[in-house]
Amino acid sequence: MTATVASLLAASGLPPLEAQVLAAHALATSRASLLADQARPVNGAEARRIERLFMRRRAGEPVAYLTGEREFFGLSLAITADVLIPRPETELLVALALELAPAGARVLDLGTGSGAVAVALAHEEPDMEVVAVDASADALALARENARRHGATIRFAYGDWFAGLGAGGRDERFDVIVANPPYVAAGDEHLEQGDLRFEPRAALVSGADGLDAIRTIVARAQDHLRPGGWLLFEHGYDQGERCRSLLAMYGYAQVQTWPDLAGLDRVSGGRAR
Ligand code: GLN
Repeated sequence: MTATVASLLAASGLPPLEAQVLAAHALATSRASLLADQARPVNGAEARRIERLFMRRRAGEPVAYLTGEREFFGLSLAITADVLIPRPETELLVALALELAPAGARVLDLGTGSGAVAVALAHEEPDMEVVAVDASADALALARENARRHGATIRFAYGDWFAGLGAGGRDERFDVIVANPPYVAAGDEHLEQGDLRFEPRAALVSGADGLDAIRTIVARAQDHLRPGGWLLFEHGYDQGERCRSLLAMYGYAQVQTWPDLAGLDRVSGGRAR
């Protein structure tokens, strides 16, 4: 019996949407075209490509790593296992930066990863001057590719948080600093579940309580903010209070936390005095 798209999908053992996305990727077509022609016979090589993706997905590999794509803020981004998979809740960080940045703002994205936040900002607001740093050369290469893909002008720099600005950047100041840093606690059980098992630990985990990177960023961001400039960063749903205390302790003004679409504390921030 010849395999068809429909027969392979039915036997995938995966949620229908995932099976469709993976089969469409293997056949280099869109999900809509795939669904419109489910009786389409699939030859041996095609069937093997599809089955291999289904198998890897059943073993837990994230869909975004299998297809090499993820949509973020309406933009299709190239994704590899070198970077965190962009999450919908991180769109809140982009929305807040767009809302709070003055016209022609200078914006710094710390730990840009795939470049999702930086590319979304530069794409949405071409007048923004966006600088993006990361301590992973592989992530930076991918972020550059994503900027190119969407015609976004961004200055990329290699390094650990503010060290990425280089010696010449010691006095460099911004109107907004954004970050989606690692914030998961080292022993968190979620690290052994779902997509997180496959994502770079350095993009997820930050010390015993998950707040090491956030402490570093909060402590040092004021040296790189213009007066009144905003620091905005993502964190875990149960870290809002600790993040606000930290911001208050370092003397930021208008310290607050914003909830994501699920109503969970997700981004905190404050203004440099
Ligand atoms: N939001 C991610 C999670 O699920 C964590 C991302 C991060 O550490 N920046 O768990």
